[in-house]
Amino acid sequence: MIKDNHSCPPTNFIRKIIDADLAAGKHKSVCTRFPPEPNGYLHIGHAKSICLNFGIAQDYRGKCNLRFDDTNPVKEHLEYIKSIKYDVQWLGFKWSGKICYSSDYFDKIYEYALELISKGLAYVDQLSPEEIHNYRGTLTQPGKNSPYRNQTIEENLSLFLKMRNGEFPEGKACLRAIIDMTSPFMVMRDPVLYRIKFVNHHKTGDKWCIYPMYDFTHCISDALEGITHSLCTLEFQDNRRLYDWILDHITIDVHPRQYEFSRLNIEYTLMSKRKLNLLVMKKIVDGWDDPRMPTISGLRRRGYTAASIREFCNRIHITKKDNHVEIAALESCIREELNNNAPRAMAIINPILIVIESFPIGYEQNIVMPNHPNRPEMGIRQVTFSREIYIDQEDFREESSNNQYKRLVLGKEVRLRYSYVIKAKRIEKNSQGKIKTIFCCHDPYTLNKNPLNGRKIKGVIHWVSATNNIKAEFRLYNRLFNHVYPTIEKNFLSTLNPDSLIIRYGFVESSVLANISKPFQFEREGYFYADSRSVSTSYLVFNRTVKLRDSLEFKKYT
Ligand code: ATP
Ligand code: MG
Repeated sequence: MIKDNHSCPPTNFIRKIIDADLAAGKHKSVCTRFPPEPNGYLHIGHAKSICLNFGIAQDYRGKCNLRFDDTNPVKEHLEYIKSIKYDVQWLGFKWSGKICYSSDYFDKIYEYALELISKGLAYVDQLSPEEIHNYRGTLTQPGKNSPYRNQTIEENLSLFLKMRNGEFPEGKACLRAIIDMTSPFMVMRDPVLYRIKFVNHHKTGDKWCIYPMYDFTHCISDALEGITHSLCTLEFQDNRRLYDWILDHITIDVHPRQYEFSRLNIEYTLMSKRKLNLLVMKKIVDGWDDPRMPTISGLRRRGYTAASIREFCNRIHITKKDNHVEIAALESCIREELNNNAPRAMAIINPILIVIESFPIGYEQNIVMPNHPNRPEMGIRQVTFSREIYIDQEDFREESSNNQYKRLVLGKEVRLRYSYVIKAKRIEKNSQGKIKTIFCCHDPYTLNKNPLNGRKIKGVIHWVSATNNIKAEFRLYNRLFNHVYPTIEKNFLSTLNPDSLIIRYGFVESSVLANISKPFQFEREGYFYADSRSVSTSYLVFNRTVKLRDSLEFKKYT
């Protein structure tokens, strides 16, 4: 499936179990599945599960199914199904055979419900949802049996048929397993297997008004698909008892084994589809693919590559320990890749005009620059140099006694990247006292050469021609939340970072147009990627994928 130069997935406790199962002859081959509920877009946490499930299938030459867990028609939308399929493929994976849907098995699941009822292992309960809740007890108190628990098998069969035929209103009846109302595991206290919902389903239309619950559906779907290792996150640990109980009590040949691993959590971000949906609905972000979102589509729009996300998933290990990963761990994956692969270009984010009075009026000089300083095979580009150029406001000071400031200072010299040494002679301010223009002269003998009389020029700054450039909007992203664990706050919206998006208007060199579909390193500024949704024809919009590693890259030129 995928081949890249990144590291192989490290082994983990699940791979060790699989190795042992194969060595013991328990299975001939491995079959896993990725079972998203289509109630939102996939996020980076799902990528962990995708890389685990599809990665195992790939490495063991087995199979991995994509199965939509579509048992709750109220929250599920075709838009989500489409985006999930796209994201899995974009990440570089291929599911085995046709896409599966839990709803493909509704007929069979219904038959298994009848089997449980016939065995005296399930009953139709007519307590209200509130009563069911109260009868369930708590973690410290056992539950109580429902008064409907002792109905005869015939009564239950006929009541279940009535449920199916739409003769009960929603919430007036449900099917429950008969297990143990005193179990220390809440999921075993007569769990609900089927509930009534008068809702059309995207696959089965109005055929059903009863829908099976997740726990009842999931194990049966796994077994019907011949899944060998059913991998899920730790919150399903207790549910494993129910998973096994159901498969032990119905007539089915296969009994997949469930193994749990810890969810991915990232600092300053949240991973629940429900909460991410709230950000979209309240228009706090610009859709599911807003580049600040931890969704696969958001990361893609921001400039993350599939390889960098896979690399991140390789690095974060599969364990049973809950933890939070630093955002820096994700950022370093894309930064390393782009440092190696992204063509360089110059962009001015906070422009200030420079007039080089010694340079001929109207003359435009083409300067050849490498696309990558260390990779000649990435070729060269031509950039226009002219009498008027822009530099960044940060790169000029009227005076500086600080020897560490190695940029342009009034009366002093600096090198323009791949170009001439210039000296700032005077400035012009506007009526508010803000610098409008810096007037300079250049040393014509310094194009890519040291000055003749042995002067040492310490600073190098970037620039863009003021006469030959492309206007650009720069979207500078910061973390979306100020709280390291935003979900700890009752109102997580109160921890939103008001500066998560800062917009600046400036210029980029015209040569970027030739590579516009690629991520760039804008020298000294960071890695940027042209926004896929922007439609303006008068300027380009760039999303900042990630900052440069300030120390290294920055020091090189300052
Ligand atoms: P959410 O709470 O974000 O809605 P979910 O678990 O309900 O997540 P599903 O669509 O049911 O989302 O998840 C599909 C698969 O992805 C499941 O096997 C689930 O365990 C896994 N998964 C979801 N979130 C994470 C995460 N943060 N880290 C690792 N795996 C995850
Ligand atoms: Mg879910």
